[in-house]
Parts: sequence; C-alpha cells; structure tokens
Amino acid sequence: MRKALLFSVFLTNSLLMIFLSGCNRSTDPPVQSTDKNGQMKFIMIGTGGITGVYYPTGGAIAKFVNEKKDLYHINCMIETTGGSVSNVNAIMAGALQFGLVQSDRQYQAFKGMAEWKERGPQSDLRAVFSIYPESVTLMACEDSGIKTIQDLKGKRVNIGNPGSGQLQNSIDALEAAGIHYETELQAENIPAADAPLLIQDKKLDAFFYTVGHPSAAIHEALSGQRKMRFIPITNIEPLLTKCPFYARSVIPIKLYPKAQNEADVQTFGVKATLVTSAKVPAETVYAITREVFENFEEFKQLHPALQTLTKKGMLEGLSAPLHPGAIKYYQEAGLL
Ligand code: GLU
Repeated sequence: MRKALLFSVFLTNSLLMIFLSGCNRSTDPPVQSTDKNGQMKFIMIGTGGITGVYYPTGGAIAKFVNEKKDLYHINCMIETTGGSVSNVNAIMAGALQFGLVQSDRQYQAFKGMAEWKERGPQSDLRAVFSIYPESVTLMACEDSGIKTIQDLKGKRVNIGNPGSGQLQNSIDALEAAGIHYETELQAENIPAADAPLLIQDKKLDAFFYTVGHPSAAIHEALSGQRKMRFIPITNIEPLLTKCPFYARSVIPIKLYPKAQNEADVQTFGVKATLVTSAKVPAETVYAITREVFENFEEFKQLHPALQTLTKKGMLEGLSAPLHPGAIKYYQEAGLL
C-alpha cells in the first residue's frame, strides 16, 4: 500500500516538477554566471514541505527571475523548510533572503507576538506581496469516528511542527472549541509532509495543516486505504474578533473527489505572503517583484492555487512595511 501511496504522490508532484525544472533547487549545482563582471548573486527562498503549496510557489517565483539571469545577475534557489516561523527566523538571521510566510505570522513577527514574544518585534521584516488564501485544514480518518472538532478529544492529532505556521493556528482552533491541546488530546508535532503516511500507518487519527488548495499533501492523505474526511471548523466568531489576521474560508470539495465529505468545508484562514529583510538590496527585491508581476498570466498557470490571483489582491493582507524595492516596481506599474 505504501508503494501505491508513494506512486500517487509521485503523480501529483510530477505536474509541479514540470515547472520546477525551470528553477534551481538548493540541491542543484550553482549555475555558471553569465555576467561579464562575474558577479552573480545567489538568493534563496524558504518554502515549506515538498507536498505543500509553498514549495511549488517558491519554484514559480524563482523560475521567472532565473530566466533573466543576463539582466539581473541573480540565481534564485528554493529551499524546503519547516514553514512560516522557520522562514521568518532564517530571513532575520540572514540565512535566507526571501520566504513564504502566512499573513498571520508576518503580523505576529513584526509585532513581536506568539513565537516572537521573547525576542521582540522583528522590525527588519519587510513585505513583498501576498499570494493565495490558505485554509486551516483539519482532516480525520473515517474509522476514528471524528465528525466534529469536539471529537478530537483523546485522539492522536498532528497539530504541526515547531517552525510551522500551522502550529499556532491549530492551537487557536482547538482553544476556540474549548479543547486544551496539552491535556485533552494526544498532540503530535510532526512536519505536515509526514502526516499522510502516519495516518495510513494508523499512527495518527487526524491532522491540521494550514495550506492552499489543492495541495499534494491532502491528495496523498486521500489516496490511501484509510478513508478520510475534512472536519469543518465553525463557531469561530470570538476567534475572528480576537485575531484580526484570521478570516472565514471555504475548502471547495470538488478539488478532492476522494474525500468523504459531500459539501464544501467551512473553516478559517490566512494568506500566503512573500517576505524579505530590510537588509536585502532594493534591486534584488525589485527584480523578483517585477518578474512575477510582468509574467502574471503565466505565473497564475503554474499551480492551481494561484489561478484566482489578482494584482491588486497581491498588495492586500500585508502587515510588515513594503520593501522599497517592491514599492519601486508598484509605483512604476501604477499599482501604488
Ligand atoms: N502554511 C504552512 C506553514 O507556514 C506551509 C504550507 C505550505 O508549505 O504550503 O508552515
């Protein structure tokens, strides 16, 4: 069965890999400089797990900049990471130049909340653009009997690895349902990419993943013998009032024909955003921004989660200040 599962993941990912071939992953050998001065800048975008949507989105961004090596002298690579919180921290430490980060995590990092409470505001964090909506997604196995979030009590539930964006989202969802995650369920902290296999190996009953849709990880979870369903997260008015960075969201069930649900799934969500540091030069941020916006129609075709993007919408949902390199492009393009 594991073989069949892996094969299905291979199929799901093969589509993504077609366009990833246009960008350099961090494991690829550095491409030779074509710059007459021999000055090639290597920049790295932090993404998430390989079966999430950050990874192919990072690849799509890198593709366009890499196609213009002669103009920008930039070689853009993508890196798999633990997710939003890891990406912010690595950017602040100078280990990454860009990262895909949930809008709620961008807000919290810039204000010194949640994981950044002790370290304080990450005041060098800069926004580049926002991308697609991500939904706080809860999936459970049919044989676990879980039909509502309340049924998670006593079950083995992956709430997210430290470093992920979803860890705090899962805790918020559970607390909004009156469930104490440390005492009322068997909470696991494993990377989202590992959850589907652990589910099929009967080592988990349910998992949370804050992700855009459709996602390869969810397809993988639905491709095993153990049947699965999405669990709606409702009664969230107090949570939405308390946390301005959350909004209602819906997972269209037509994206996942193998799920046991019949109706679209109500939940809440955030936006995926691209962030950088104030220390990254303006010309680098300008190049990334310009190439994504100037190749907008092609960019939208590179992953189904990108299809509904609008240029105007990509300037919404940002809480850190815009980087001057991004501002330069938006002003030139009449978007600001
Ligand atoms: N939202 C997740 C996180 O920040 C990552 C989702 C993805 O990789 O698509 O950890």
